[in-house]
Amino acid sequence: MVLKNAACLSATLILAFLLPLSAQNAAKADQPVLDLSAMDKTADPCADFYTYACGGWIKNNPIPPDQSSWSIYGKLQDDNLAQLRTILEEAAKANAGQDSVTQKLGDYYASCMDEAAIEKLGAAPLAPELKRIADLKSKKAIAEYLATSQFPTSIYGGGSLFTFRSTQDFKDSTQVIAETDQGGLGMPDRDYYLKDDDKSKELRKAYLAHVQKIFELLGDEPERAVTAAATVMRIETALAQGQMTRVERRDPPKLYHKMTVADLDKLSPAFDWNVYLAKNGLGTVGSLNVVTPDYIRVMNATIEKESLPDWKTYLRWHAAHNAATNLSSAFDKETFNFYGKTLRGQEQLPPRWKRCSNDVDNDLGEALGQAYVARYFSPEAKLAALKMVKEIEAAMQSEIQALPWMGAATKQQALAKLQSIANKVGYPDQWRDYSALDIVRGDEMGNAERAAWFEFRRQLAKIGKPVDHKEWTMTPPTVNAYYDPQKNDINFPAGILQPPLFSAKSDAAPNYGNTGGTMGHELTHAFDDEGSQFDAQGNLRNWWTEDDRKAFEERAKCVIDQYSGYTIVDDIKINGKLTNGEDLADLGGTLLAYLAWKEDTKNQKLDRIDDLTPDQRFFIGYGQSWCTNEREENKRLRATVDPHSPEKYRANGVVSNLPEFREAFHCKPGQTMVRENVCRVW
Ligand SMILES: [Zn+2]
Repeated sequence: MVLKNAACLSATLILAFLLPLSAQNAAKADQPVLDLSAMDKTADPCADFYTYACGGWIKNNPIPPDQSSWSIYGKLQDDNLAQLRTILEEAAKANAGQDSVTQKLGDYYASCMDEAAIEKLGAAPLAPELKRIADLKSKKAIAEYLATSQFPTSIYGGGSLFTFRSTQDFKDSTQVIAETDQGGLGMPDRDYYLKDDDKSKELRKAYLAHVQKIFELLGDEPERAVTAAATVMRIETALAQGQMTRVERRDPPKLYHKMTVADLDKLSPAFDWNVYLAKNGLGTVGSLNVVTPDYIRVMNATIEKESLPDWKTYLRWHAAHNAATNLSSAFDKETFNFYGKTLRGQEQLPPRWKRCSNDVDNDLGEALGQAYVARYFSPEAKLAALKMVKEIEAAMQSEIQALPWMGAATKQQALAKLQSIANKVGYPDQWRDYSALDIVRGDEMGNAERAAWFEFRRQLAKIGKPVDHKEWTMTPPTVNAYYDPQKNDINFPAGILQPPLFSAKSDAAPNYGNTGGTMGHELTHAFDDEGSQFDAQGNLRNWWTEDDRKAFEERAKCVIDQYSGYTIVDDIKINGKLTNGEDLADLGGTLLAYLAWKEDTKNQKLDRIDDLTPDQRFFIGYGQSWCTNEREENKRLRATVDPHSPEKYRANGVVSNLPEFREAFHCKPGQTMVRENVCRVW
């Protein structure tokens, strides 16, 4: 769903915990939440707080060659992957007399690690798919092909031509309906096709060269490959022109167009929706949400305009692209050259074990997650996290009651929404059943294909059934967190409840600044530019009075204007409308964490530690959660696609709005971290 995964780090967010001190966790557990060596005490906290909190870390933590950026979260994700590797290598030992789930984990991982076997097959695992494309007799037959292709029209946002999935109905959150959305591009966003600056032109040239190389790897003569790549670019550019921008997509009512299949058919008669739906077992579905009708119209015109041979070229490219990382090293490396090196600035492919561990996490995430949680996440950690979440929620309740700009009627609705939020910590109560998924040792491509279809069918099977509120959309080892506006729940996977984001050994201040800030962040998403348009039941419904909504939007605009002034790289500024939800969540979340910390420690005498006051330690804990080094290529990519501001501004943008920060560091008016026009919403 479009709004789900309001994930909170750039690729990740936060929360953490005390832990089972197994030998493997001991090193992790010893990492302090407030790290003095990460600071640069020569920097003035009132001039540039981020450098003061993170200057030492930035100097001492160069980006590893296989990464596009490096951060506290990235390091933790790497640590978690190493733990998954341990589990998977044990499971992969053949015939250890293990249960069927462990067997699947081991077989999947072993197949992925068997590079010699994969190399030997070359492009052969793709041959049946390419033959099906070559055999297409008409453009009308594309629908049946997509409904039964090697990889399903992805629910993850890629796919060919469009994406297809199930979702909760925006207007009736008890119902799961089918949904189709824009898709079908090989580059990360429509802007890559449509923008006219030199960098965009350069990337389009690199993309053309990449598509051409893939065609050559499929056996095309270079000349034919050049023409084929140009065809792909022409079709994808036409599709991009019909797509909504990321900013437009932040307005939920613009994403809701429920219609009958007959009406969808009228919108795009050139695509045989009835066949597509029937082949997916949805012949009787009747109606669905068409997120982007304008795109479907453009898709239809493009189907009509382009010839069958050119569509076959487009489909061949997408088939190869979807399968590339499961094919021989020539495909794998060429794909990395464009998507890793050119787009993100990575120097080297990550080692095979990391990629295979990630693949298992993607495809069998709750089977692997169950083993991960048993080993690396204690019941005490879960309880501690739940306690902190409740404290942050209590702080929000007091804040809403005291808000000067909101009237009583809206406050009542806001409080009702807050009270309905479900707190999910660590891992699902019910683990997903993978018994219907066949994993065959030695069949790398087949495993990836069956896993993708298993997930696609699992999604579609929800249509017409009651909503499963226990479901998670992140796996347990993930270093991230999310708020889901339609389920109205906040979710903190076990993977983020780890040192150095939270530690039982630390004083409370940095724990609240770091992990408390994350919890406050997720909670504030329920009331950001998007979340605030959904009610306590997860329905898209306006529960605001007109005046209160106006007052909210004025305050949100203050934050948009503030962040729009920050430069990311070159002359690229933050798109403050794109990042508004995350910026609001950072600002509100940090304040909530501060208030919860004060309340929790109000009867304690807090001492200076390492010559820092408790308030200073709270803010340094917050600031250090954002310590990051990032490659310029990745900064440019994120400027286009990422709703999160760069980490420096997630730190400085927030503290410069907080009088509590100013006092803690004795900052004076006129200094950079003391904004004249202070923004405050929640
Ligand atoms: Zn977020």
